[in-house]
Amino acid sequence: MVIEKVKRLFGYEADKIRYRSFGCFLAGILSLSYFYYVPRVLFYFYDYMPWDNLYIMYTLGSYTSHLFAYVLINLGFYFLYTRNWNSIEKWKISPGPWPWANKNKYDEDKKKLIKTALFNQIITLPVSLAIIGLRVKYIITPQEPDFITTLKQVAFFIVCEDFFFYWSHRMLHLPWFYKKIHKKHHEYQNSISPAAEYAHPFEYIFGNSLPVASGPILYGQSNVHIITWFTWVMFRTCNTAEGHSGYDIPFSPFRFCPFSTSSSFHEFHHYKNVGNYGSFLAIWDTILDTGSAFFEYMEKKEKVN
Ligand SMILES: [Zn+2]
Ligand SMILES: [Zn+2]
Repeated sequence: MVIEKVKRLFGYEADKIRYRSFGCFLAGILSLSYFYYVPRVLFYFYDYMPWDNLYIMYTLGSYTSHLFAYVLINLGFYFLYTRNWNSIEKWKISPGPWPWANKNKYDEDKKKLIKTALFNQIITLPVSLAIIGLRVKYIITPQEPDFITTLKQVAFFIVCEDFFFYWSHRMLHLPWFYKKIHKKHHEYQNSISPAAEYAHPFEYIFGNSLPVASGPILYGQSNVHIITWFTWVMFRTCNTAEGHSGYDIPFSPFRFCPFSTSSSFHEFHHYKNVGNYGSFLAIWDTILDTGSAFFEYMEKKEKVN
């Protein structure tokens, strides 16, 4: 039984590696530069702020990091959605049409999406940052964090976030929570990138923001530079937007991470509404068998191809 699970996890990992291409290295270098430089630019920008207050720097910096990543990645996907290039559309996960194929329904959905996105960006996100930042202690010295330390800390944050996301997400699928809270996020059966943050405020705070903050809290914020925190916020924002994009891009930089999920993993969760509760890693869904339906589906698909 355990051997079966390990084989399954390694099989999924091998598939991801098999479908990587040279583009993976290019995407890796581009995204590393993005996650490296943008948080540093933000940090220097805050040097010119009139306040010398960690709480304000944390709240404004986290907000800007998230907004910058959210807008930029969604603009990127918007560009791809509107091109309709065959070379890109071949990576579309769902065999069904994009949501905009049904114009009337999509116009309604778009209004709801914009309303929810604005509410979450203007109200829910600042509230969650204000709560999480109550005892903020990040390092703000001019001495920048080195690459290896950042890598180690982000790896730890990924493991923590994935664990808390898995359990809060599983809880959100209990009938009461699903009906009252999580159903909203599942209105998108075929997901698109901005729908990553199409969620009830309770889910946004407790199911999304708190798991993101769990890693730095457990690691000890006073050992984490605020630049690393900005990097992590941008990394996770881009990761979840890609996970909801509806494309499974074979050279996605997130595939570099061992045992990471691909966007097919979360798309399957939206489409079938079963299992696959993890965010970044496929580990808990393998150990606890909640990923079985997905793995069986992928194994069958592999045989057909
Ligand atoms: Zn769900
Ligand atoms: Zn989702």
